[in-house]
Amino acid sequence: MVNHQHIRTFVNEARPQFENMLAQMVEVPSISMDPSRASDMRRMADLAVHCLTELGAEAQVVETDGYPIISGGWMIGPRYPTVTVYNHMDVQPAQEPEWKQEPFAFRNDNGVYHGRGATDDKGPALAALFGAQFAVEQGLPINIRFVWELEEEIGSPHFADGLKDRKAIPQPNSVVVSDTIWIAKGRPAVPYGLRGLLGARLILRTGTKDAHSGLTGGAARNPLAELMEIAHACLDAKTGRVKIPGFYDEVVQPTKAEIKSFLKSGFQVSRFKKAYGFQSIRTSDPIDVMRCIWAAPTLEIHGLTGGYHGPGVKTMVPSQGELKISMRLVPSQTPEAIFTKLKRYVGTLNPNVKVEQEGVLQPFQGLFDGPYVAAVKRAVKGGFGKEPVFVREGGSIGAVVTMQRAWKVPILFMGLSLPEHGYHAPNEYFDWGQASGGMKTFAHYFSELARMVK
Ligand SMILES: [Zn+2]
Repeated sequence: MVNHQHIRTFVNEARPQFENMLAQMVEVPSISMDPSRASDMRRMADLAVHCLTELGAEAQVVETDGYPIISGGWMIGPRYPTVTVYNHMDVQPAQEPEWKQEPFAFRNDNGVYHGRGATDDKGPALAALFGAQFAVEQGLPINIRFVWELEEEIGSPHFADGLKDRKAIPQPNSVVVSDTIWIAKGRPAVPYGLRGLLGARLILRTGTKDAHSGLTGGAARNPLAELMEIAHACLDAKTGRVKIPGFYDEVVQPTKAEIKSFLKSGFQVSRFKKAYGFQSIRTSDPIDVMRCIWAAPTLEIHGLTGGYHGPGVKTMVPSQGELKISMRLVPSQTPEAIFTKLKRYVGTLNPNVKVEQEGVLQPFQGLFDGPYVAAVKRAVKGGFGKEPVFVREGGSIGAVVTMQRAWKVPILFMGLSLPEHGYHAPNEYFDWGQASGGMKTFAHYFSELARMVK
């Protein structure tokens, strides 16, 4: 058990070092998306190793064909269980005009930490690291490892390959991911499921050049109209229901217990609408909205291109068009099976339409009950004074599915970010309340795991 007085003292004493490390990390613009930042990415890897070793962990840079992975931690003994904490050290670009400060100049405003990457995901990574240092100092019988990725924001293209280096990145008994957002401040939330993704392009060409409607209209086919017909056949735009035959066959509906948990999350339709600037949405029932964005699959039409968009009348009949769509998938749908269903259906509707796959992420189903979940609940209660609610996330984290496939061990989430922190948004920040609560939570969690049988 973690002694509350000890952890409190530790956290208060760790604060200057935590703030100093976070400052250094935020000031490295580790934008994985931007090829011109390659040398900053290298600096980030070196700094990450430096932070781990400064706290007494061993650490190394694991090379991949892309940006490296940082692996490190404390190996106490092979008899003890090993937990790996996953975070990422790359960040989103920060060119939004709304930034009120230089995004890569760290600013500590009395425990509010401003700068790109502060909450996504450098602050949470450091909170977990300090929680681990405390656990090690207490002599807990557990091996704590860290995997810090540098390509999360670009879809983790080399992560699976990196994990093959089992010597540098040993297989743990469980994983904890700290890269998610609570639903509301003061209400700890733990996601246990992520949606997957399948992107597709539907391309139709009906001629070699555009034609004049006065000369050919009526006889000429119109690829844009035909693609719109397909869009309509695939999706009920009013309800959002997907009409591809068999689309819902594999969907596992959330249980009553899951829905009950969603209800306790602090989710509010009005806040949701305000946050995303919606004037109206498809349903105003909070349960329906949560079900739609977390636990149900979707199909979105992102764009229809082709034809003429300029001023005035241009009476041309386009010769080709393209429809860009994507689907969010839930457990236990697979992008592969859904793509087959889409392609088959489009083929019956219009055999001339070419269907191309683009971007694939598997959905993730985590744990909703059992000993690990109980450990997370007690740890969050110990760190933040309140048990977390278990929710799902509508988005995807590719690395999570990669770790599940590579290691086949329980993966739990312990995010520390708040909605107002501005993930992927201008004026991103993190704060000491979440950081200190996070350190305590991680310390409690490691202690819980140490008590579990390996
Ligand atoms: Zn992130």
